[in-house]
Amino acid sequence: MKTEIIKIDPDNITPSLSDIKRAAEILKSGGLVVFPTETVYGLGGDATNPASAEKIFSAKGRPKDNPLIIHIENAEDAALYAKTTPLYYRLAEKFMPGPLTVILESKDTVPYQTRGGLETVAVRCPENPVARAFISLAGVAVAAPSANLSGSPSPTNASHVIDDMYGRVDVIIDGGECDFGLESTIVKIENENTVTLLRPGKITLDELSLVCNVNVASAVVSELKAGEIALSPGMKYRHYAPASPVRLLDGERDDVLKYVKEQGNNKFAILVYSEDKDYFAKQLPSASLYELGSIKNESAQAHELFKILRDADKESFDVIYAPLPKAEGIGLALYNRLIRAAAHTIVNLRAANT
Ligand code: AMP
Ligand code: MG
Repeated sequence: MKTEIIKIDPDNITPSLSDIKRAAEILKSGGLVVFPTETVYGLGGDATNPASAEKIFSAKGRPKDNPLIIHIENAEDAALYAKTTPLYYRLAEKFMPGPLTVILESKDTVPYQTRGGLETVAVRCPENPVARAFISLAGVAVAAPSANLSGSPSPTNASHVIDDMYGRVDVIIDGGECDFGLESTIVKIENENTVTLLRPGKITLDELSLVCNVNVASAVVSELKAGEIALSPGMKYRHYAPASPVRLLDGERDDVLKYVKEQGNNKFAILVYSEDKDYFAKQLPSASLYELGSIKNESAQAHELFKILRDADKESFDVIYAPLPKAEGIGLALYNRLIRAAAHTIVNLRAANT
């Protein structure tokens, strides 16, 4: 398949509206269009067209029971596709447009193929101006999972998308770097007072708790137990994983240094906080170091994480070491992505000290 790449400046989209309109028409006629959002790039198809959903699953190599999030222009448009409730509108008022996905009971306008056979549908109203213009010109909800091949990290810039999707989609809209860099926060409405957090993201537990009660699905922070039913089909699959094994180290930098030295790996990488970069460069000159960002700036770390995992994956390391983030605030999203990338391998270096 021939893939067209359209470059757009997200700060000045007016000169590109005719290009965006052309991409929207391709989507409406059953084509696939990758577009930028504030979280990660999305692989878009017409959410009301079962054939588009089939094409998305096959372009990604994604299991067909893993449902797609539908993207709408305005929060109120959810009522066209789902049974909205007062709690939905309370969440929408505070967090939409923005990086929050809400799971609601579906209407028949969304075919079962789009929602992976479920009775519910995931709805999101993105904030990125290119995404908004694209959805508006399409005039229909856009079903879009992350625009990566199934199993690799979500793409946060157009070159990641080109690596994974060139030749598999009709159009790639290049709108530069995604602002946040990790996927949206997902909540499921349980009743009018309570949601369950299924995937942590930029909208934090504390922010959600200002609106309603929030339960946290156990799979957010730990491995799904044998026989446990996944609340979100995506939880069943090993996501965001580079080919090299990732090991999470829970300890201070001296403990990390000691542990890594003891392992005696040949070709290895360490994800380091900016504050620790010189320390590791001096102590472990043979390590490949990837700078996550300041230990104090979790948004900066979120922005870098998937890019680093992709870059590191090109090197086929024996092992990639990463610090275990604190599972709080935006750190909870980093923690959730890293435990998956590491297939839940956490080395506790703190216990040794006590
Ligand atoms: P992605 O497509 O990579 O953005 O991931 C979307 C995530 O949302 C996956 O983990 C899906 O399993 C989850 N999801 C989408 N729709 C639903 C739904 N109706 N119920 C539960 N989880 C959903
Ligand atoms: Mg994904």
